[in-house]
Amino acid sequence: MKKVHNFNAGPCVLPDQAIEKSIEALKDFAGTGMAVIEVSHRSKEWGEVMDECRALWRELLDIPDTHEILFLGGGASMQFLFVAMNFLEKKAAYLETGVWAKKALKEARGLGDAYALASSADKTFSYIPKGYVIPEDIDYFHITSNNTIYGTEIRYDIDSPVPLIADMSSDIMSRPVDVSKYALIYGGAQKNVGPAGVAFAIVRKDALGKVSRYIPTMLDYRTHIDGGSMFNTPPVFPIFVMKETLKWLKGLGGVEAINKINVRKAEILYNEIDSNPLFVGTAAREDRSIMNVCFVMAPGYEALQDEFMSFAKERGMVGIKGHRSVGGFRASIYNACPVESVEALVACMKEFAALKA
Ligand SMILES: *Cc1c(COP(=O)(O)O)cnc(C)c1O
Repeated sequence: MKKVHNFNAGPCVLPDQAIEKSIEALKDFAGTGMAVIEVSHRSKEWGEVMDECRALWRELLDIPDTHEILFLGGGASMQFLFVAMNFLEKKAAYLETGVWAKKALKEARGLGDAYALASSADKTFSYIPKGYVIPEDIDYFHITSNNTIYGTEIRYDIDSPVPLIADMSSDIMSRPVDVSKYALIYGGAQKNVGPAGVAFAIVRKDALGKVSRYIPTMLDYRTHIDGGSMFNTPPVFPIFVMKETLKWLKGLGGVEAINKINVRKAEILYNEIDSNPLFVGTAAREDRSIMNVCFVMAPGYEALQDEFMSFAKERGMVGIKGHRSVGGFRASIYNACPVESVEALVACMKEFAALKA
């Protein structure tokens, strides 16, 4: 089905299987004679989709009973506000590792004393700050586990003396996660688990209800827990595609299996960047993301940037332009990006180097 090598950062490549199943459900959903976007979200058939989707999340990420999984509108950006509304009483600390982290912090600043505990802004967010100490007198500590724009990642579950909150938009389901360590994990679906239009929130129930402010109904996680993510009409089609994406992941062997594949894909690409004289990686080696691989032309070869872009495009590479704030190249190699696409990009880099180096 795929005709190009899709390295888009999000929305991005999804499994063929999920797309095909979604097309089928648009034609006739579960034998109802209606498209999945035509049935009532209160129907038995739709209820089964919600249940299956939740069950897949629970099974794949091993989510304990202490946590609820929610599917919400508004994207990860709306979650920035949800976080502050539901968890910020007085004070919160953020790890400032990029533009998304800054946006999350901005929402919290509007509601309380929120600050950056550590930042890598001094070097264009090319590394993850270390050596900071999480204070014990804050309501929560917020991290962005994968920095989509800069290609850095925190690939382990940190220990925090206060409730830990993570934006995992761009690396959720890429590796096993110890959910019990987090008060909240959230993100937009459109990088690793589905199309745009739905966000996920895995929230520890007993961490809620600790703030004294009035929380507007729609911004209160408890509303959506009580409503089973259907307090209002949920984004039905994105949820359906998400369910199919997770089914594909389960068929592949789950997050342990995809983690191995992801590590291999990243190794293939970083090895080429490190050995090819034309290119150099931009993220600190120890913090390199296995989801977003950022690189630029090596010193002396900067003028070849546009030429390589066209060269790669002619060979079927899509979406390798770096984010406008950093330039260069970025290959997003999420779960659904096949190893063949990574190999094709590497072949393309080798071919270009043979001509130019
Ligand atoms: C893409 C992204 C977001 C923004 O997601 P929206 O759903 O567009 O609001 C937030 N955080 C991270 C880490 C992202 O990669």
